[in-house]
Order: sequence, then structure tokens, then C-alpha cells
Amino acid sequence: MPTTLPTPERGDEVSWVVACLGHLVEDEVTASPSIRGGQIAADAALVALDVAGYASRRNEVLPRSRRGATMLSPYIRHGLLTLGEVWSATAGAADRDRAKFTDELLWQEYARHLYARLGRGLAEPIRFDPTPLGATPDVIDDPWATDMACVRLAIGELERDGWLVNQTRMWLASHWSVRHGADWRTGEERFFTHLLDGSRAANRTGWQWTIGAGTGKRYGFTRWQVTKRAPGLCETCPHHTACPIETWPDDVHLQSVTGDAGLRRFEDPSVVGGPRRTMVSGAADAVWITAESLGDRDPALTAHPELPVMFVFDEPLLARLRLSGKRLVFLAECLADLATRRTLEVRLGDPAKELADQRLATTFAPVPGNARLRDVLEIVELHPWPWLRRPTSGPVTSFSAWRNATR
Ligand SMILES: Cc1cc2nc3c(=O)[nH]c(=O)nc-3n(C[C@H](O)[C@H](O)[C@H](O)COP(=O)(O)OP(=O)(O)OC[C@H]3O[C@@H](n4cnc5c(N)ncnc54)[C@H](O)[C@@H]3O)c2cc1C
Repeated sequence: MPTTLPTPERGDEVSWVVACLGHLVEDEVTASPSIRGGQIAADAALVALDVAGYASRRNEVLPRSRRGATMLSPYIRHGLLTLGEVWSATAGAADRDRAKFTDELLWQEYARHLYARLGRGLAEPIRFDPTPLGATPDVIDDPWATDMACVRLAIGELERDGWLVNQTRMWLASHWSVRHGADWRTGEERFFTHLLDGSRAANRTGWQWTIGAGTGKRYGFTRWQVTKRAPGLCETCPHHTACPIETWPDDVHLQSVTGDAGLRRFEDPSVVGGPRRTMVSGAADAVWITAESLGDRDPALTAHPELPVMFVFDEPLLARLRLSGKRLVFLAECLADLATRRTLEVRLGDPAKELADQRLATTFAPVPGNARLRDVLEIVELHPWPWLRRPTSGPVTSFSAWRNATR
């Protein structure tokens, strides 16, 4: 028996999550006060996009008015905005700002390529073992359980807003693993629980690069960055006169690891890249949308304005992940918004069972979970993923090697 949920309605998403998904969250269900889900909100953010000053202000933390970050990441992560659309929207910007911004879009694309190729392998250090030989870090269970003002600021934003600027992501990741030697995968899970843009691709890549597993160079977090990026914050800190991060973490040599052979070469890039053209083997009776592609411009959705749309909350997966309620509210906001324009059916359960009796049109998504479901579902129409750069068989060992290979 399918478990069909009532369709979420705009303005009522928090109580909808409490009623329908409350048993699957790890905290009190609230909406992010900073970012709202849905195509209307995503399009408004894109229209307002202005990258003037981005190159010099991308890393600013405080005051908030100086931040150059665009906060587009949740919309990009869930496919409401494609990287190509965002790239094009900066066409008139100054060269320096545009170059820096589009470079970051490429980092997002690189992370997607890495994850598509390595899958769960991205949870293993890809090139260097981040645990330094012979080093004795000050290991503590929860390095973020501190009253240091810099860490409290970042954790507060993570847990309240479900979003952080890149700079404070690096502070937290470095404080966790580089200074205190805590397992990076546990820290990565904590991020994933809360971030509205949380993706295994970009989150694991971000952690690997911060802790040195990607390049052999670790990002050291000290008072210096706080003073530079958040002037005035240290003065509010109880540790102002005896800062525990006054000095740099030890400069250590990281051992290289063999790494997955797929990093250097991947014989059949179409396995991770998906089809170049729509593949049709029959008539679809519904469009299946996923968390990778929740926008109105999803290719399968636009190809079939007449068909009902289906979305399944993967109950076994969510029971395992125990995400923050904010993440599910963001998804509910996307669905409630879509439901004002399309006939939408929302289900809860194992997607393989919930969709078993359907002939589906869908869009390829470059994540392992999507591949597993495509294998068991009746997909009669598969649309191409809107890559910024299509995967090749060339190396993904580093960002620059990948960029050259996909040019
Ligand atoms: C430890 C760590 C964890 C991270 N986890 C995630 C994550 O789960 N999901 C996620 O989307 N990003 C992640 N990032 C990357 C980056 O921090 C965020 O994409 C960015 O802060 C989002 O804010 P923004 O939209 O204002 O970015 P902007 O600076 O305005 O950049 C525009 C877009 O470019 C992309 N982008 C920017 N910087 C990066 C980057 N370093 N890597 C990949 N893509 C980037 C994002 O899609 C972003 O929306 C992580 C970085 C680190 C260091």
C-alpha cells in the first residue's frame, strides 16, 4: 500500500513536517530564518544576484553586511538553480569578481564529479592521510563544545540558519580535525545534519580540502583569521586575553595514500555523466522528481507539463540520517511552492516500493542513491543532467587537473 502524504501548503510547512515527518528529525522542527525554499524564492535570489565586490569580500564573516557570499547554495544543491543559469547571470560583472565567482561554481561542479566517480569512496581520504604521523593533537570528544566566541558564532549559525559562509565552515572543520584530531567524518555528519545545502559531494570535498586529505596542506585556524574576517568578535570572547588558538597548529607532513584508481582515469564517463540526450522506451504516467532536482525547470518536469509529479521522502534513509527539521522544512517549502503550479503527490517510504507500479519520466542525477533506484524502477524516459562540464575519463585528482581535463 502506498503511503501518500497530504500535499504541503505554502505557509504551513513547519506544521506539515511536524505531522508527517516529525518522527524522523533530530531536533525541534523550525524553518531557517535566513533562507526559504521553493522556485519563487530561488528565482528572486537569482534576480537579486550581484557579485560586485565578491572577490574581495567572499571570505568576510562580520559584520554580516560586508559578506560577499551570495547564499545561493541551497538552491543550487537542490537543483532549483543550475550552475549554468547562475554562471550566465553574472555576465555583466567585473572580470575579477566574475572570475572568482565562476571558479567557485566550478568547485561545486568538481565536487559533483568527484562524488559521482567515487561514491562512498569520497568518505575516505583521497590523496593524503590527514592523521599526521607522530603528532599528538589535543584530542577531545567535541571540539565545538566551547565558549570561544568564534566557534559559538559559527555553530549558532549552523544550527539556527542551516547555512554558513565558506570561511566559518573552514574554521569549524579545521578546529575539529586539524587542531583537535577528531574524526573528520563525524564533523562532516554534523554539518550534513544541519546545512540546507548539505551534499555528500561538496561537504566531503570541503572537509577533505580543509584537513589536507586533498592536497597534503592543512588549513590552520587561528585567532589571526578571526581578527581579519570578523573584527571585534575576539573582544566579546571570554578567552580574549588567553586565546586557545593564538598560535598556528603544528606544521606537519602528511603521508600520501594510494587512493582510488578511479581518481586518475574512468573508462566509461557516461556511467557517471548519464545520457546526453533523452532516452525514451515507453509512455510515462508520472514525473519522478528527487532532492537533486526540485525546481520547475527540471528537464523531465518541463517535458511533461500534463503529467502528475511524484516525490518520495525516503523513510529508511531519513530514519538513519536523523536530519535537522530545518532541512526537511526547506524541502517541504520547495514542494509546497511547486504544488501551486503542478499536481503533486508526496509519499513516504522506500522509494523502490512506493514507485514500483509507476512508469516514470525522470532526470538523471549524478549520485549513487539515484543510480540504485534507477536500476529497480521502471524509468521509461530518462532526461540528461544539466552539467556545466560533462564528466570525461580524465583525472579528478586535483581541481586543476580536473579543470584542464574538462575544458
Ligand atoms: C568544510 C566545508 C564543507 C562544505 N560543505 C558544503 C556543502 O555541503 N554543500 C555545498 O554546496 N557547499 C559546501 N561547501 C562549499 C562552500 O562553503 C559553500 O558552497 C558556500 O559557502 C555556499 O555559500 P554561497 O552560496 O554564499 O557561496 P558563494 O561564495 O556565493 O558561491 C556561489 C556558489 O558556488 C558554489 N561554491 C562556492 N564555494 C564552493 C566550494 N568551496 N566548494 C564547492 N562549491 C562552492 C556553491 O554552489 C555556491 O552557492 C563546504 C565547504 C567547506 C570548507
